[in-house]
Amino acid sequence: MRTRNLTSKPARLTKGSAAIIGARTGKLLYLGMRNKYCATCVWAVRLNIPPKQHKCFKNWSGNSTAMESDIIVEGFCQSLKMYGIKFNRAIGDGGQQRLQDDFRRTAIP
Ligand SMILES: [Zn+2]
Repeated sequence: MRTRNLTSKPARLTKGSAAIIGARTGKLLYLGMRNKYCATCVWAVRLNIPPKQHKCFKNWSGNSTAMESDIIVEGFCQSLKMYGIKFNRAIGDGGQQRLQDDFRRTAIP
């Protein structure tokens, strides 16, 4: 497996999504999404009925800061699998220390 060390730049795009962009190449490496809202679930709660079998869009229940670092960490793992790329540094636009900590915990075996 090809392993390159490069600096990555996570960016917050919209609420609930984050991307990993190669700091040197500027290429999008990973785009992750988390959703706290699912129309089917909301509808079921409103009607007070159990939700029917559905593809649930709700895949996150934590807070937004944790959501961002969760996506980035997932992205790092995916990048390692998909491209054989190992990141050595994360540049965040918020909650940077937390991001670095999460990253270190996940990325280093
Ligand atoms: Zn749902």
